[in-house]
Amino acid sequence: MQCPACRVELNRTTYEGVPVFECPRCGGYLVGRRQMVLIKSSRGKSREELEADVESRSGGDSTEDVRCPKCLARDMKKQRVPAGDESFHVDVCEKCGVVWFEGGELARMQLQYEASAKGVESLARQQRAAGLDAGDNEFQRNLAALPRNSNPFVQALKEAWLLVATVVLLVGSAAFAMFGHHVLAAVVSVPGVVLLAVLAIPTFGSNLGRWIMLAAVAAGEAGFLAWLFL
Ligand SMILES: [Zn+2]
Ligand SMILES: [Zn+2]
Repeated sequence: MQCPACRVELNRTTYEGVPVFECPRCGGYLVGRRQMVLIKSSRGKSREELEADVESRSGGDSTEDVRCPKCLARDMKKQRVPAGDESFHVDVCEKCGVVWFEGGELARMQLQYEASAKGVESLARQQRAAGLDAGDNEFQRNLAALPRNSNPFVQALKEAWLLVATVVLLVGSAAFAMFGHHVLAAVVSVPGVVLLAVLAIPTFGSNLGRWIMLAAVAAGEAGFLAWLFL
């Protein structure tokens, strides 16, 4: 591939760790659209380095139509990039999706992005992520302090008093039923199944599972009441 301005062969290289093509003469860059997004938010180069890049490469902002170095489509589209009070243009190939940055324009785009609200927010996000990676101590400590076994059923078993109350209510209800105290059996069974549902439903992970469990508990209770009074 040749530089659209100098007609010399472009070199394969990397920019901020991202593969790009570079013109050895004018310092222009040919970048894929996806790569451009990566470079935009990359913070490998300091502000000073970027500014030096803009100075040393200054190829000017050509208004001439550019032929795509990759697919040779005739005219690439001029796309305006705001840069502070000014703006410049990059050439975008609508056919193959590459972007041609004249000398210094890539660094200029980065400077512009870093100064923008979006760029500032993205930097804060990157720093937060880096903080966690590096072992944000408090976060790690909190993580370590979390109970290891968060299985809801095990948790429910630990709350044994709830289980005991449930068993007492349900056994009591059955006993009342057996001895013919149907009204008492019915009255005691209701809180019994409610507690049963409280214990059992969290162990059914999905929403659907919980609804099925709730339906089963309700149906069981309805069946029990029907058996008592019919
Ligand atoms: Zn060139
Ligand atoms: Zn193209």
